[in-house]
Amino acid sequence: MEKPENKPRPLWQRIPLYLQILIALIVAVLLGIALGAGQPSPSNIVFINNLAIPCNLVLKALRALATPLILLAVLHAFMTATIPGRSGRRLATLLITNTLAAILIGLLVANVLQPGRWGRLAAPSDASEVSKTLDPWGLLQDMVPEAVLKPLVDNNVIQLIFLALAFGIVLRGLKAEQTAQGKTDYLALEQGITLLFEAVIRILHWVIALVPLAVFGIVAKTVALQGFEPFKALGAFIVAVLVALFLQGCYYLSRVYFGSWVSPQHFLAGGSDALLTAFSTASSTATMPITYQAMLEKIGLREASASLGVLVGSNFNNDGTALYEAMSALFVAQVLGINLSLPQQFIVVITSIFASVGAAGIPEAGLVTMTLVFSAVGLPTQYIALLISVDWFLDRCRTAINVMGDMTVSAILDGKQRQLLPAEELTLQSEE
Ligand code: ASP
Repeated sequence: MEKPENKPRPLWQRIPLYLQILIALIVAVLLGIALGAGQPSPSNIVFINNLAIPCNLVLKALRALATPLILLAVLHAFMTATIPGRSGRRLATLLITNTLAAILIGLLVANVLQPGRWGRLAAPSDASEVSKTLDPWGLLQDMVPEAVLKPLVDNNVIQLIFLALAFGIVLRGLKAEQTAQGKTDYLALEQGITLLFEAVIRILHWVIALVPLAVFGIVAKTVALQGFEPFKALGAFIVAVLVALFLQGCYYLSRVYFGSWVSPQHFLAGGSDALLTAFSTASSTATMPITYQAMLEKIGLREASASLGVLVGSNFNNDGTALYEAMSALFVAQVLGINLSLPQQFIVVITSIFASVGAAGIPEAGLVTMTLVFSAVGLPTQYIALLISVDWFLDRCRTAINVMGDMTVSAILDGKQRQLLPAEELTLQSEE
């Protein structure tokens, strides 16, 4: 039998995803113009509305995958991450502060620039869901699920996080106990979780392969029904996200400057390969080996710091994604004319943290977990469709920031003292 890898892939699959999306965008705009560009003929309305079907299906699949993905990502991280000795607390503090900074920068820029003001979309018919005000005490009461599987069924992200943390902590403890006793019973579960996690990611790849079709349908429908008006707001959103990512980059450089021996110029020059690879692949996982090598060979960090920051950190350190998820929620709320109150923005912060932990390091993964951030504050997830058309570009930019975050953590873990090269050690010894 012929091996699958020997089969030539169809032409469409050989075109990189971003090019597929670009082609889909161009064809969609042409079709949208042909169908009326804002003044559609009534006889075409049914057809135009049906163009949204692929996008709705993709969003439905993303929503369905989001909860298992976050649960498995958190369990996988708890069970498999090996963090030597006291470095754990230091790493955790660095990751949390960087992610919080990213989300706060994102929220600040979205609140100040208000990109959603540039366009207005009708709120969905079930507006009651959107306008439900968030009661923090109610949320606290609601944090514990009534049944273990309920958060998975209801897509309730706060309950899911509670569950994932509880099981994650317990499983890590059990693994440590068993390892100390020389037992290996935990291995079967660990392998099961790893396998399931990989399976969900593989299904995610299938869904992502359909994104160009979804973009085609939703853009053609939007242009046909509403013309180019909604895209003005998207342009403003792109600018706002780029400003926020740039600020996050500056924040990293200042942390590197004050917290490590590496100078910002050396950091950028040494890490440029990794940053460019991140931008061109839109995958921090695919970039990981290059980031690791750059940290060791080009910047000259110790192996322990590079492996902790890049290999361990990259699993759950996705600050660019966290920033993007928070900004997207605020943007869609602004476009719909909904005011997200401070407690609601607080929920955005909490859920964005976990959404970024759960986002796999592959292209478009942020879109999956974004559905949970939206649901947590009662925003309608169908408006994520709007973002799909620009995500191929913003994904690259946030992936570069995700990788820069890992590089920053590695540099800070390396401390203020540079590791001496063997030749330098010899010179020092001979001077003594
Ligand atoms: N593509 C991003 C990464 O690989 C994840 C995301 O979609 O936000 O880091």
